[in-house]
Amino acid sequence: MPSSDHLRAAVRDIPDFPKEGILFKDITPVLADGKLFHDCITLLCNTAGDQVIDKVVGIDARGFIFAAAVADRLGVGFVPVRKAGKLPWKTRGLAYSLEYGENVIELHEDAVLPGEKVLLVDDLLATGGTAAAAAELITSLGATLVGASFFIELEDLAGRAKMPPCPIHSILKY
Ligand code: AMP
Repeated sequence: MPSSDHLRAAVRDIPDFPKEGILFKDITPVLADGKLFHDCITLLCNTAGDQVIDKVVGIDARGFIFAAAVADRLGVGFVPVRKAGKLPWKTRGLAYSLEYGENVIELHEDAVLPGEKVLLVDDLLATGGTAAAAAELITSLGATLVGASFFIELEDLAGRAKMPPCPIHSILKY
């Protein structure tokens, strides 16, 4: 299994973006390097262990990059959780607050089916508001959340505590 040290070295800290007081974790240098991105997706896939997974759900927008690659590697479908007003069909939505601002996210009502085993993947776990809302949408449709995996976790913000009980993994902890 690849180590994560080279990934940590590539994540760029941007102070006061997009607002004063936020230390933004810029993951674009990881995405731009083929080996780093490949290793990152390998590590995220490994968090699933040998669990059966039917769908990978990714969160708008950076989460899509990781979740879609994980879904493809696992050979399963990808489902987008999107910001309000972006999905064209029947949706279920939920409002939540995030580290900077407020948001509403939506999921197509038929995107996950009752009984399906779902892995949630996002770029970063901060306060956990986004992931917890996505988890609630997934389970409200009758699917089972078998895990939530993040490239980065900001441990001080205690996002894990907001998540429903399920295995939670992150590749880089700060
Ligand atoms: P939260 O709901 O607070 O866990 O926020 C999670 C989402 O906000 C993630 O999907 C990130 O894309 C974004 N985000 C929050 N804080 C940061 C940060 N410090 N650096 C980069 N992205 C962040």
